[in-house]
Amino acid sequence: SAVRENLSYEQFGVAVRELAHAIADDGYRPDVVLSIARGGVFVAGGLAYALDCKNIHLVNVEFYTGVGTTLEMPVMLAPVPNAIDFTDKKVLIADDVADTGKTLKLVRDFCLDAVAEVRSAVVYEKTQSLVKCEYVWKRTDEWINFPWSVQPPVVRRDGQVLDA
Ligand code: 5GP
Repeated sequence: SAVRENLSYEQFGVAVRELAHAIADDGYRPDVVLSIARGGVFVAGGLAYALDCKNIHLVNVEFYTGVGTTLEMPVMLAPVPNAIDFTDKKVLIADDVADTGKTLKLVRDFCLDAVAEVRSAVVYEKTQSLVKCEYVWKRTDEWINFPWSVQPPVVRRDGQVLDA
């Protein structure tokens, strides 16, 4: 459908504080926030500040190639984080949206052996998600426009191409 869920930067600020409150109220104190790049980086940064956690890690996952079009399976891109860094840690995985949930499942399974505990926080979770996140700000089944990716990459104002 052409219906979209539009999130503004202002609403995102509210969402990340509310998510952090839910996590704190639940008594979960992560040692490390693991963000899924690129969208999860915004969420992880906000949550880490709000939860007073100074340890952020990042994993790059490639899955979506366009609106609703994906690769067959999500893949972790290099550099893959070192599982040693998560040993016996309470990990909070942060992402923008759990849609099919395949991306979160990949990252969660990657963590599961070594960590003390792993939980997931997302701004949005869709009904079909095969991972049910512990912390969800809002549920929708529409395509979401996030403020950081709703606009195309910038072009030089003098008209010259970026890679020239
Ligand atoms: P999943 O593996 O759960 O299907 O998708 C996870 C990733 O796909 C998200 O982190 C996000 O980058 C992208 N994605 C999935 N659904 C949407 C959506 O509705 N809008 C946008 N902008 N990205 C999405």
